[in-house]
Amino acid sequence: MNKFYITTPIYYVNAKPHIGHAYTTIAADVLARFYRQQLGKENVFFLTGTDEHGQKIQKVAESAGKNPQEFTDEIVAHFKELWDKLDIKYDNFIRTTDESHKKAVQKVLQTLYDNGAIYKGEYEGLYCIGCEQFKNESDLVDGKCPDHNIVPELIKEESYLLKLTELQPELIKKIESDEFKLTPEKYKKEILSFLKNQTLRDVSISRKNVSWGIPLPFDPTHTTYVWADAFLNYLTGLDWDGNEKKMPKFWPADVQLIGKDILRVHATIWPAMLMHLGVELPKILFTHGHILSGGKKMSKTLGNAILIDEMLEIFGTDGTRYLLLSAGTFGEDVDATMERLVEKYNADLANGLGNLVSRTLKLSEKISIKIGTENHGLYTEDIVNNPEIGKAIDFVWNNIKNLNKYIEDNKPWELAKTDTIKFEDVMNKLVHGLYDISEALMPFMPETSEKIKKALETKESVALFPRIK
Ligand SMILES: [Zn+2]
Repeated sequence: MNKFYITTPIYYVNAKPHIGHAYTTIAADVLARFYRQQLGKENVFFLTGTDEHGQKIQKVAESAGKNPQEFTDEIVAHFKELWDKLDIKYDNFIRTTDESHKKAVQKVLQTLYDNGAIYKGEYEGLYCIGCEQFKNESDLVDGKCPDHNIVPELIKEESYLLKLTELQPELIKKIESDEFKLTPEKYKKEILSFLKNQTLRDVSISRKNVSWGIPLPFDPTHTTYVWADAFLNYLTGLDWDGNEKKMPKFWPADVQLIGKDILRVHATIWPAMLMHLGVELPKILFTHGHILSGGKKMSKTLGNAILIDEMLEIFGTDGTRYLLLSAGTFGEDVDATMERLVEKYNADLANGLGNLVSRTLKLSEKISIKIGTENHGLYTEDIVNNPEIGKAIDFVWNNIKNLNKYIEDNKPWELAKTDTIKFEDVMNKLVHGLYDISEALMPFMPETSEKIKKALETKESVALFPRIK
């Protein structure tokens, strides 16, 4: 691989960001930083942003007494502020209200209309405003959308439709062959079984009575349905102007991170749009699970929600980044409680890493060791070629454990008095080992990584993660 392009979903701005948004975005940031280390900064592109159109936004803005643009500007500011607090280094933040995005979307819709992929028809279906999506009967539980617990509205209106049915066999092939790789494996199975068991209906891509959206260039009485608008951000975020003959150098995306609630649309409508345009599909669509608390979905009524601001206050930026990503296997649902997060913080950060750093620094006061600036490359070939967040974290923490054990086994504070040659040898290993760990920690905990490196140079003590009582 010589370039790496990673995206998060663009987040819907009907409310302020929460822990789920933070989870996906931190993961993307870690992978982007990892690849910047491996491939060089100029060969990595990390895109995030916000999805700002649609009926739901129009309604919440109205009820807040604001016009939609004013409303979305305010929410976007909250997202950006949170990304700063979490040390997220994105290369671009795309907003679907950006003029250049809107223009490119219109250009694409015109192309799809001209080549017959979009046609005028009538759409009848059950519309969940929470999802901004038409639902199948089989998606509903007791007649309600299970994600929003509301009865979808039966809508029958004139609409423009995107052809999906005719692409179904080809889409199945691309997923089966991993040309369009859905991972983890269970999501590939889920989508394939969905695609093989029912006919994909052509999908509505426009709404007639929603003004807060992008007008269709060939019929301005319609605006684009939010998904068709939103998906194209993955391309317009690279400054793409909608010309399918001139693709950006970072395309196709190497990894698109999404939560499981938006898997199906990402695995059907999105590739279909690209296939109609004759554009390459993203290489990997990586789906992760939800963060639960005490085994349940977080909710205000249950009082089990973990607030991202609270985490930042208690654990700091790097502590929060580490704890969210190490709370469980990335990809699966993870279960977190404040109590367990505090335990893990104390065990891994205050004790494990904190002890290693303070002991190594204290002992190295007695000696002068030069650390080369060459890349020590702690990670194994396997992780470099196929990075998995969980595997990389385990790897670093095993190194921390081993180095702590090395200190216990060799008791350098005794060697300093009895055997200076062996002492120097042990310290050399210790200091270089810690330097390597600080490098390997960089994608996860950028600030801590810098602090450790600096402390090794200056030999000044450094406060990293004070114990929480
Ligand atoms: Zn819903």
